[in-house]
Amino acid sequence: MKNDFPQPSARRQVLKQAMAVSALTLTGIAGLSVPTVSFAASLSKEERDKMTPDDVIERFKQGNLRFRENRPVKHDYIEQKRSSASGQFPAAVILGCIDSRAPAEIILDAGIGETFNSRVAGNISNNDMLGSMEFACAVAGAKLVLVMGHTACGAVKGAIDNAELGNLTGLLDKIKPAIEKTEYSGERKGSNYDFVDAVARTNVELTVKDIRSNSPVLKDLEDKGKIKIVGSMYHLVGGKVDFFEVPK
Ligand SMILES: [Zn+2]
Repeated sequence: MKNDFPQPSARRQVLKQAMAVSALTLTGIAGLSVPTVSFAASLSKEERDKMTPDDVIERFKQGNLRFRENRPVKHDYIEQKRSSASGQFPAAVILGCIDSRAPAEIILDAGIGETFNSRVAGNISNNDMLGSMEFACAVAGAKLVLVMGHTACGAVKGAIDNAELGNLTGLLDKIKPAIEKTEYSGERKGSNYDFVDAVARTNVELTVKDIRSNSPVLKDLEDKGKIKIVGSMYHLVGGKVDFFEVPK
C-alpha cells in the first residue's frame, strides 16, 4: 500500500528538492527577484525539538531580514497545511499587539505551524494570555516566549493620553505603569511619538516581568533553560524587529 503521508525523512527530501529547484531557478533567471529557498513543509517535531531558544531567536532574525529585503521564502502553504494537520510543533509563542501593521508571521517570514500567536492591544499579559502561553510551552513544547511591541502603538498612545472607551479603558490601565517607569527627558505626551515608542519598549519589559511573576509554570521552564522569555520591538518604519533580553 502506498503511504500518502510522507515520513519525516521523505519530507526532508522534498524540502531539499524544492531548495535545489529554487537554486536552479535563481541561476537560470539572473536578475529577477525570486525566493531563494522554499519551505515545503511545516516544522516537524524532530526539527523543533533540536532547536535551542537562541536558535529560534536566530531563525526569526533571519526571517525578519528576509522580510526587510523583500526576499521571503516561497512558502508552500498547502503543503504546510497538509503536513501540520495531524500535529503541530511550533517553535515559539508570540504575544503581540493587534495592530494591523504588525503581523508576526509575515514580518518574521514564518509559516503555518511555526508560531503560536496571542494578540491583544498593547501586548499586555493577563491570566488568559498566560494560560495560552503555558499551553504553548509546557504542553506543546514551544522554546520561546516572544513579547513583541511596536512603534507608533495606538494603545500606548491612548494610555498616555488617558483615552476612555468602554472596556478599552481597563485595558489601557494595564499599560499605564510603563508610562511612569519610562525615563524620558523630552515632552511626555501622546503627540510625541519618540516618547510613545519609549513607553512601548518599557511596556514590553514590564510584560516580560509580569509573565515571570505571574506564571510559575513559565518561570520554572525558563529557570531550567528549556525556554527563554524575551522582548522585541517592531519598527514600522524600516521593518526591523529588535530582540532584547529582560534581566530577571
Ligand atoms: Zn499597538
